[in-house]
Amino acid sequence: MDWTWDLTVLYRDFDDPQIERDFNELSRLCAQARDFLQGDPQTALENASDAMEELSRLSSALGSFASLTLAADANNERAQQLMDRLMIFSVQLSLLSSALVRYIGHVENLEELIAGSEKLQKIDFFLRRSKEKAKHLMDGAIEEWMLKMSLTGGSAFSNLRDKLDATVTVDYKGEQLPLSAVRSKAYDPDPAVRKAAYEAELAAYPKIEIPMAACLNGIKGEALTMIEATHFDSVLDQTLAQSNMDRATLDAMLSAIREALPAFRRYLRKKGEILGHKNGLPFYDLFAPIAPEGYTPKKYTIEEARQKLIDEMGKFTPDMAAFIDQAFENRWIDVYPRDGKGGGAFCAELHALDQSRVLTNFAGSFSDVSTLAHELGHAWHNRCMAGLPYSMIDAPMPLAETASIFNETLLANAAMAQADKKERFSLLEGSLMEVTQVIVDIYSRFLFESAVIEKRKERTLSVSELKELMLDAQDKSYGDGLDPALRHPYMWACKSHYYIPGLSFYNFPYAFGQLFGAGVYAQYRQEGASFVPKYNRLLRSCGSGWVADVAKSVGIDVRSVDFWRESLRVYEREIDEFIALADELM
Ligand SMILES: [Zn+2]
Repeated sequence: MDWTWDLTVLYRDFDDPQIERDFNELSRLCAQARDFLQGDPQTALENASDAMEELSRLSSALGSFASLTLAADANNERAQQLMDRLMIFSVQLSLLSSALVRYIGHVENLEELIAGSEKLQKIDFFLRRSKEKAKHLMDGAIEEWMLKMSLTGGSAFSNLRDKLDATVTVDYKGEQLPLSAVRSKAYDPDPAVRKAAYEAELAAYPKIEIPMAACLNGIKGEALTMIEATHFDSVLDQTLAQSNMDRATLDAMLSAIREALPAFRRYLRKKGEILGHKNGLPFYDLFAPIAPEGYTPKKYTIEEARQKLIDEMGKFTPDMAAFIDQAFENRWIDVYPRDGKGGGAFCAELHALDQSRVLTNFAGSFSDVSTLAHELGHAWHNRCMAGLPYSMIDAPMPLAETASIFNETLLANAAMAQADKKERFSLLEGSLMEVTQVIVDIYSRFLFESAVIEKRKERTLSVSELKELMLDAQDKSYGDGLDPALRHPYMWACKSHYYIPGLSFYNFPYAFGQLFGAGVYAQYRQEGASFVPKYNRLLRSCGSGWVADVAKSVGIDVRSVDFWRESLRVYEREIDEFIALADELM
């Protein structure tokens, strides 16, 4: 079996004449699309939405072919060239879509038009949301210039940040290593290696701290300028609007998280004790592997992983099992690491073909099987949206992880049910280590970013202020779970999430996704098989409603603190069991 993915469903190769044909069609449509916004509003909206649909189909086929090729083969020059040619269209496409939003903003009888047109009913949420979005458009006269300026402003800072991160070298025991290589030593079984790597990492940041701080100040400064230009009260309000989410939902989730912090701190302190620390866990041991004496974790071949996923997901619904089997069979998955292939894992949708592609770097651990379950959850989510217009498949960040977290939770529960005590301990530790990041670390990032944006309103922040704010955020979030003398003052330089122009607070959606996915899973456990069709409908509707309404469709009230408390209770129970097992086994 060939375990690389098959992209020929898009184009045969980079010499496929269809590429040029699609490119020409894309240029032609781009040039003409504005003309569609003429005549009576109903015809104009119908024609414009057809044109946007075709533009999405073409740019996504070309873009997917280029970006997926690059993801598996970073040095592919033909793919890079295609990518660069497509970039030229990005400003044009944004301008087109805001021309459409602006037009919709001026349509007074939108509801009447929707009611009277079958075509417009299929994109009703897109139209209603655009009406809202129109209130936050920039002045038409400056928009193009703002977009172009941001390429040399926020985007340029973001590129510089990535270059600094990729090229800085860390002196690790006399050897010059990339930052990523030193950071991955946090998972090393040898405590001396973890500690030395952390010290070497912290010692390397001063080499890049000044330009890094300039990037952060530049990007957050731009974010503040942009909210003025787009009439938002705050940067957070803008992110909430981008997320189809309201403030009441965020507040409910954050209060439940604050209540749960002491439980996570108990887990961290226990892990610290196991590793011989008296004053809480040092930052460098957050990812330390711990296992009971005599326990060797199970290893999986890719065939075993495939079978495991088919067996476990099949208990939820046979359709999902068959879907996963087909994903393997039809080479949707690029399985193994190799030279030039990117790290990590992701799932990309090929919506027009009703297919997805999954990249992983499978090495045979349970966590690798769980990653496959996660990414195939995204693929299932895409399947559930088959046939919808492009304008209705854009799940906002908080809902985008629903199916992936659901699958992970399902697999983890199945594994726990079959495990003996030692394996249970090891699975719990794996789960809690990750969930602590998604809840506790994410909360610290939310606090940090809030504080930076607040101060940045008045002036730029110095390196030492950024370090101070980061330590303070870690203190408020991790509390006595972390050793106060051994935190990480440079996490702001480490995490790329703070440096995405046009997207601030790329942190709380992770916590939302984790807790919402777990909450949906809990709902399934209560309702059993009758929940399956509801679940699939929920996934289908993720891009076509406000978050609170989508959740309500499966009986979940995301504005109530109790819903979030229930989800967090799942992890609090895991923490109790982890501590009890640790006392017994370690
Ligand atoms: Zn995901």
